[in-house]
Amino acid sequence: MSAPGRERVWLARERDSAFRLPMSKKYKGKTCVYCGGVGLSETRDHVLAREFVLERHRSNLPAVPACRRCNNTKSQLEWELTTVLPFGGRHSDALEVLSTMVPKRLRANQALRSQITRHIDKPIWLPTPWGNMERTSIVPIDTKQIETWVSFLTMGLIWHHWHVIVANEVDIEPMLLTSEGEKLYAPMFYLRASRQVPVTSIGGDALIYEGMMDRANPLASLWRFAVYGGIQLGGNDPRVRASTYYVKVMPRAQNARA
Ligand SMILES: [Zn+2]
Repeated sequence: MSAPGRERVWLARERDSAFRLPMSKKYKGKTCVYCGGVGLSETRDHVLAREFVLERHRSNLPAVPACRRCNNTKSQLEWELTTVLPFGGRHSDALEVLSTMVPKRLRANQALRSQITRHIDKPIWLPTPWGNMERTSIVPIDTKQIETWVSFLTMGLIWHHWHVIVANEVDIEPMLLTSEGEKLYAPMFYLRASRQVPVTSIGGDALIYEGMMDRANPLASLWRFAVYGGIQLGGNDPRVRASTYYVKVMPRAQNARA
């Protein structure tokens, strides 16, 4: 008899579509938060990709509507960064990601693997911000790549917290600041005249961030991000050793006048 078999299949399908319905309603056919394409979203994108996070800390990751093209671009960035960034992490989850999840990713990407081992095996001396030299291992990260990723994070979180779509309306400027630069920007997070996103931790501290919006203009905001407890990032300028990305979001016209 085949009827019971068919019935089981039918039930499984029914449950599956019932399970998917709320998601498609919320995320399908909406404006993509990353490119502003109206009605183009086909999928739910986790602003911080689940692969950055240990499985036990993956609930409640913020998600946004995204079109397939943006989702693919972001996934490609994440594919490399989820492998590289844990090397610089200072909190215990980063170390656990490094020992449990990264080896598998490195096996799948031999080019990246040899690039990383080449640098890890050759520690170098770098000047610290205090002027002395420090022996350290560095893992090369494409700055452009990490800045593009940080811009995605910013657009995603602006939508997640304020339901504002900034794509095409703003310039997003990720900044690694010297301590002098931090003195300029850090106090802005305490301005009373702003709308705040308080210090927020997601994915078991995989990402800690805060944000503030100009009350008069939802397109102007300032954010800061620390990944894995504050990865030590260095620029070409040896004075710049930062663990926090500051991100300035400015309306396009206003930025051009400044
Ligand atoms: Zn898009």
